[in-house]
Amino acid sequence: MDDILIKNINIIKINQDSNDFSKINTEKEKIENSSIAIKNGRITSISKDISHNKSNYDKIIDGNDGYLLPGFIDAHVHLLANGFNNEDYMSDPLSYYFYKAIPAMKKTLFAGITTARDCGLADFGVKTAILKKLFLSPKLQISVMPLSITGGHFDITLKSGHDMIPRYNGFPHPVCNGVEGVIAKTREVVRSGADFVKIMASGGVISESDSPQDIQFNKKEIKAIVDEARRLGGKYVAAHCHGLGGLELSLKAGVRTIEHGTSITKKLAHEMVDKNAFLVPTFSVIKWQRKQAKKKLFREDKNEKALEVSKIHQENIEMAYNEEVTIAMGTDSGVMGHGENLKELSYLSKMMSPYEAIVAGTLTSAKCLKIDNKVGSIEKGKIADLIITDKNPLDNISYLEKENNIKMVFQDGSIVKNINI
Ligand SMILES: [Zn+2]
Repeated sequence: MDDILIKNINIIKINQDSNDFSKINTEKEKIENSSIAIKNGRITSISKDISHNKSNYDKIIDGNDGYLLPGFIDAHVHLLANGFNNEDYMSDPLSYYFYKAIPAMKKTLFAGITTARDCGLADFGVKTAILKKLFLSPKLQISVMPLSITGGHFDITLKSGHDMIPRYNGFPHPVCNGVEGVIAKTREVVRSGADFVKIMASGGVISESDSPQDIQFNKKEIKAIVDEARRLGGKYVAAHCHGLGGLELSLKAGVRTIEHGTSITKKLAHEMVDKNAFLVPTFSVIKWQRKQAKKKLFREDKNEKALEVSKIHQENIEMAYNEEVTIAMGTDSGVMGHGENLKELSYLSKMMSPYEAIVAGTLTSAKCLKIDNKVGSIEKGKIADLIITDKNPLDNISYLEKENNIKMVFQDGSIVKNINI
């Protein structure tokens, strides 16, 4: 592994105090023109005064007065999915299904995402291949398979009775019911390598036969999943929630991260703050589905569901933000295409400052994944997951949306993307 010095670079400073925005008011305090040294994959020094002596490094990179940010963390992706066209699972040979995901993973990494939390489909083999660097991808935290009730958001059994979930060893089926059933399924996904347990607590837009407002698992079932996950090495639960009922039950049961959060109320926002829960609003998918639905590109019932969800999502999430709910960045890429993950920053910036949006996508997402001791900020001792862009993203956050504007990506201290800066 190369020892690297990056000189002449403006560092967007994100540190453990960054969530307290009152302390960081001026642009000057957010940016520091400096140099940064990387050894054995970690940041060893950040200082204007680092020696630029060539003999100390394998590589010296001139940042050309560009901007250095922590690698982004997308807290909600499905890297193995490509539009959830369930027919593909029926027609694609299993090996092709996996190979097809490789370009999606590379695109995601090149968009500036150095770590992602896969909320369903990526299994332990995919995670292992990435750790062994067999191909370029964000590092993954995985849930393997989300838990769903019969007829719920991840039960893709058609009315004909055909079950379209891909089936292979090491990949549990999502459907479980009743306290005993959900405990067994929680054990099964953890046995299969899940880092956290994802559940479908409400219906969804792309499901076969439910409504986003439906409550799915009942109170006892969710509590049983949360308790069992916690018992199995302190794992936490992430819940897909559009409807109010599912959200309420999830929070009461101790679910740690709420995905989408469409129907959140002020009372539940306060409960999230009290319980240190995270909200991953996934504006990207909600806005994308709205556009598709307006053009009537889904099946009729799915068009209606998408419009129903998008009608209330923005306003409710803004309310939650104003009530100081902790917001992490997630996109739900995989429902739509891959590699436009940082569009989410522009959506977040409709309610927060560009700086806060960057914190949401770096340090807060790292906290959401419980990896903030290793990544999520540019600090001495942390893993060198970094990106370089040539323009100040605090002036124009949408600049980061375009893959070509992410000039360099470092992962574990190695350069994985380099277009001339
Ligand atoms: Zn999802």
